[in-house]
This record gives sequence, structure tokens and C-alpha cells, in this order.
Amino acid sequence: MDARARVFNHHDPYDLKGTEDAFVAAMRENALFQQAGCADYARILREQDFDPASIQSMRDLERLPFLPTLYFKRHKLFAMDEKKLLIQATSSGTGGVKSHIGFDNLGMYYGGRMVLTMARRHRLFSPKPCNYLIFGYERTKENQTAISKTAYGATFFAPALHRTYALRWRNGQYELDLDGMKQALLRYSRSPFPVRFMGFPAYTYFFLSSLREEGIRPRLPVGSKVMFGGGWKQFYTQKVEKETVYRLVEEVLGVPESGCVEFFGAVEHPILYCDCARHHFHVPVYSRVIIRNVDTLKPVPYGTPGLVNLLTPMTKSMPILSVMTDDIGILHPPGSCGCGISSPWLEILGRVGVKDIVTCAAGAEEFLKG
Ligand SMILES: [Zn+2]
Repeated sequence: MDARARVFNHHDPYDLKGTEDAFVAAMRENALFQQAGCADYARILREQDFDPASIQSMRDLERLPFLPTLYFKRHKLFAMDEKKLLIQATSSGTGGVKSHIGFDNLGMYYGGRMVLTMARRHRLFSPKPCNYLIFGYERTKENQTAISKTAYGATFFAPALHRTYALRWRNGQYELDLDGMKQALLRYSRSPFPVRFMGFPAYTYFFLSSLREEGIRPRLPVGSKVMFGGGWKQFYTQKVEKETVYRLVEEVLGVPESGCVEFFGAVEHPILYCDCARHHFHVPVYSRVIIRNVDTLKPVPYGTPGLVNLLTPMTKSMPILSVMTDDIGILHPPGSCGCGISSPWLEILGRVGVKDIVTCAAGAEEFLKG
């Protein structure tokens, strides 16, 4: 069994210690594979004088060269024949700038294993059919964004009776149809089946706020859930505290805080992070997180804010084994949450300013031109 299989088949999704050796070995295998199959990546390793065979411990992974997520928005890097890859997910990048991400068969298989293990651990599966309200894009051939796929994928945790989308594809473009959502919600609330919300937290928040203003308070059936994914994006400036959102959900829908679930992930780092009972994102066995100083890019200790560097050996199709996001975050030490999950947890504080991103991207660009 290869090392990647040992990581992705592990029964406990938060047993970081028990999977450390396998994780390190899988990262080494992956880096060697990328070096052999992707000329650009081989050059980057050469320029940084890094030999993948030297990866023997977690500390070595701190030295492994990372690629900025922005780099994937400008360049296609593949270590396998692009035509043979399964899914070409693209991020919902601003200004039409997109990342082209494809997965190998085995990578997709392991991704599926991960989703099953995580959904089981977080009790997301239900045999009871649900009605779904999706605060995201209706799935079309034209829309290949990862978030629309994630939202659609989440509607399989419980059998779907109906799916209603906030952003509907009409005459070649997306239109926001909040009135349609409201009608569907009222219809669903009278049915005996649970309702599941899924989508961008900001849309959900604004939708529930407008319902409250109108005095509409449908009581949803027991077992209903409000699931969030995709982060806050362009709404960072209007970001409200999570507690405010949970209170609003309870007030308007009658769904308790324990019925709220949030997911985190990035198209260039296709790992499913699912929040715990205290709404923290613990690092699962499929990934490791390194927080780096914004100026020096050196790793910082637990509890210190910095740039979020995400690592995973999930896919061999592309060198996304260590990516630098443009998020600022904090990694909190194991045991500090109190929910019982033993792995450290990641708190995203926000995104670095546009000026910083440009600097970062330009720096990487300079560097990669080498
Ligand atoms: Zn926790």
C-alpha cells in the first residue's frame, strides 16, 4: 500500500500523530513524482536547491518550496497528461482569473474516501430525505467552479427531494432569485422533511436578515441543518461574528446552533475541513498547516498570526502539495479547543490586502521566472 493510501484510508480523521510517518512519506513520494513529471516544478526545486528525497520528517516539510495559489491562476502546471484528468475545477477568482485544477483517478478516489470519513465523523449523513436551499450557483455545464461542485456534492449527504438555487442560470447568465428562495423556504417549512441550507455564509446571512425584517419566521422541521461553505469572499468588510449568524439562524428558522455546520477548503487545496461543535476548523489527517511570518515567510509558533500555507499529498496530477494562500490565519495548539478533537485548529482572520497580494504574486512571478 502506498503512503498516500495509508493517510486517506485512516479510520480517525484527526489522528495526526498516528498518521505522521505516512504523511511525511506520502509528501516525499508526491514531491518526487512532481519533480519527475512537471518541468516547471523541477526547476523551482532546483532553484531553491531542494531535494525531495531529503523529506524525512515534518520539519523537512517546512523547507519544501510552496507555490502561491495566485500562481495557479496564471499558469497551468500538470505532472500528468491534462486530457486524462478527471475534473477541471476552477476557483471563483475575481476578475475572471481562474485556477485550472485537475485530479488523477486515484486522487479523486482518495478525495471521496476523505469526504465519507469526515461526513461520518461529523454526522452529516442522514437516510431521511431533505429539501435543499442552496445559496450558490445553479449547476450548469458552463459553471465549473469548485464551490458549485462542493455545494452540489453536499446535497448527497442526505437524499435530495428538491434543490432550489439562489443564483439561477437564465438566458446565459446568473440571476439572483431571492424571492424564489423565500417561496421555496415557506413551501419546504410546511413539509415533514428536514431542510438543509448550503452555501456562502454572506448570502445566507443577508437572506435571513431580510426575512426577519419582514417578520417571516418559518419553523423548520427537526433535523434541519444550515451548512456554510465558500467563506466570506467580497463581504469581508461586512463580516459579522459567527455568533451573530447562529443567533439569526435560531431566531428566524428555529434551527439551534448545533444544527449549523461550516466547511472550509480551497480549490488549490481540495481538502474538506469541517467545523467542530465549537465551530473551529481542526486540521484533518489529510493535510498539515504551516503559518508563516508575512515578511520572512519563516514558520511561526502556535497562536501567532501569519500567512496560511496548506499541505496535502492528495493528488499527483499537479504540484499542489504545498500551496501558499492569501489568507491570514492562526493555528491554535492541540487541546486548546475543548471539543475533544486532539488536532490543532485553524482560524482564518481575513485576507491580506490587495497591495500585499500583488507584492506576493509579483515576488513569486519574479522568483519563478528565475
Ligand atoms: Zn474543536
